Amino acid sequence: MAVHPCLSCGACCAAYRVVLHWSETDPSLELHTPAELTEPLDPHRVVMRGTYSAPVRCQALRGVVGRDAHCGIYAQRPSPCRDLQPAWLHGEASPQCDRARQAHGLAPLDPSSWRAA
Ligand code: SF4
Ligand code: SF4
Repeated sequence: MAVHPCLSCGACCAAYRVVLHWSETDPSLELHTPAELTEPLDPHRVVMRGTYSAPVRCQALRGVVGRDAHCGIYAQRPSPCRDLQPAWLHGEASPQCDRARQAHGLAPLDPSSWRAA
């Protein structure tokens, strides 16, 4: 069986600023985003460390982009990461996914990327 395309990519985790409401880091939530992986942005929001300065690379990202990169806190990743859909996973284009891959020299996904995943 082929590997999920995101598990050999990680480009979006090294392309965009990831901003979330501080409440997502509330330790009373079972799947909170670890506060130590964030830094303050404004009174209401925090940003994932590593995504607010160039070159962008979230500090939760493990591995090499385009080869074996993956989220080190997958179950606790914040809402912007949950919202970003890989292109064609559900039959729809994803310009964010395409742009991130392009920025890292990777071809965009297409429907065939999922056939054996
Ligand atoms: S850029 Fe697209 S394929 Fe790559 S990890 Fe992000 S969502 Fe997955
Ligand atoms: S928290 Fe995980 S999914 Fe979100 S940007 Fe960081 S490494 Fe990527």
